[in-house]
Amino acid sequence: MDIQTLTAAVRNIPDFPIKGIQFKDITTLFQSAEYLRGLSDILYDRYKDKGITKVAGIESRGFFMGPATAIRLYAGFVPIRKFGKLPYKTIEEKYSKEYGEDIIQIHKDALNENDIVLLHDDLLATGGTMAAAYRLVKKLGVKKIYINFLIELEKLNGRALFNDDVEIDSILKFE
Ligand code: 5GP
Repeated sequence: MDIQTLTAAVRNIPDFPIKGIQFKDITTLFQSAEYLRGLSDILYDRYKDKGITKVAGIESRGFFMGPATAIRLYAGFVPIRKFGKLPYKTIEEKYSKEYGEDIIQIHKDALNENDIVLLHDDLLATGGTMAAAYRLVKKLGVKKIYINFLIELEKLNGRALFNDDVEIDSILKFE
């Protein structure tokens, strides 16, 4: 499946969720059996030789391709959720959003020092969400972390929040 076809399948929604925001709607990628399989194949090819033991997906749009990729890599899946949603003991990270702060959490026993983690979300914008998730996963002392997005909004330069020692990959790139 070529990247151009997949890129063209992402739907732009002007003024969602608020005026002035151009929202990238990924449901149009997922609703096509062909595109969904294509996307899954690309993810599998990129990570199949990395020894990934767990995929950690960020709520909520990291919960689509996160588990799907984990199954193909024969890895486990770990949810990173908004505050108050996880039932067992958690650790957390705060991060600032456009309006105020948000908190994400992970179960404290979800990952350990033997894990090679693929940290996944649908989209990289300013990078605040993924940077917090990266700090969270690091706290659990894992062996290695890879970061993946389906979409990167390059103009916002979210990558600048990360050191060069972390491998960040995005499949579809927009301005
Ligand atoms: P950041 O923290 O990088 O500024 O924002 C990324 C987070 O916001 C991701 O969890 C992503 O799901 C969500 N997000 C922001 N803008 C968009 C968008 O245009 N489309 C989609 N699908 N998600 C977005």
